[in-house]
Amino acid sequence: VPPPTGERAERRPASAVDEDVLTARLRARLGSAPDGELWSGDDAAVLRPPAGSLLVTTDMLVEGVDFESAWASPADVGWKSIAVNASDIAAMGGAPRHAVTAVGLGTSTPGALVDGLADGMIEAATTYAVALVGGDLSRAPRLTVAVAMTGEVDAGGAVPRSGARPGDALCVTGSLGGAAGGLVALRRHGAGPDLGPPLARLAQRQLRPRARVAEGRALRSAGASAMIDLSDGLAVDLARLVAASGVGCEVDVAALPLDDDLQALGSGPEADPIRLAVVGGEDFELLCALAPELLGDACARVEECGTALTQIGEVTRGGARLGGVDLDEWRERGWDHLRAP
Ligand SMILES: [Mg+2]
Repeated sequence: VPPPTGERAERRPASAVDEDVLTARLRARLGSAPDGELWSGDDAAVLRPPAGSLLVTTDMLVEGVDFESAWASPADVGWKSIAVNASDIAAMGGAPRHAVTAVGLGTSTPGALVDGLADGMIEAATTYAVALVGGDLSRAPRLTVAVAMTGEVDAGGAVPRSGARPGDALCVTGSLGGAAGGLVALRRHGAGPDLGPPLARLAQRQLRPRARVAEGRALRSAGASAMIDLSDGLAVDLARLVAASGVGCEVDVAALPLDDDLQALGSGPEADPIRLAVVGGEDFELLCALAPELLGDACARVEECGTALTQIGEVTRGGARLGGVDLDEWRERGWDHLRAP
């Protein structure tokens, strides 16, 4: 069966396209395996194990839950599906290696959507040096993209959530609140050309998050004692880190590196930059704990990646507070209701 071509084929539902044809079309774009490995096209990929420790993670994006097709293009969804997994590898201090994907296509999914998804996945995979080595396609009630990713880190060198010690500095990479601010902008204005540059940059932070892979490796080398990526918001992920470490924290709200573009959102309770930075999600910045004497070197190493590292507080013996308010209280005002339409 020849691969479907032309406009007519683009409009055919992907579910009507023979799955082997579709996967062959995608496989042709995935690059070829090095000697000793076997990628897409067999029953399973054959990979050489890393010299150090193997990292494995998975994350799934579901239409209507994790993204809205009204503003996220298929390429955006493809990009994000790879980037969020690379972010989890980054949060361990590792380097991403291989990924496989399982895609559930809505029954009326046009074939062009599959190509868009592949475009975004391949763009992100190239950016983060991940090899896409296989996948599966099926029908689903709505578009669902699951990715599983492997990574590598020096043996015994992964940075866990559980290593923070009282007296450590708490630091974040980059800036906070931009992705949640982007969601506010997209809800208000859609993804059209009406967004001015600041709002368009916020929208990009929501639609095309960057994984801090180089920064995560730099922080591991600098001796970070604990690390987590900010997927569900600072309040939630900081609570996870201190709970795993059996410690507390005190974070200074005035020290939070707020995304400059949040000012363009103007007023309204949903646009408050501090709230977006603390309870918004999906910034995919790294939060780490570091012994204070390592801070200067860590900042220099992260700056070499082109990214700022900001101390936002410190690890304490107990009581998890941000701006004098218990993290639990911040979490109750959390991401879930921000996400809800
Ligand atoms: Mg994570």
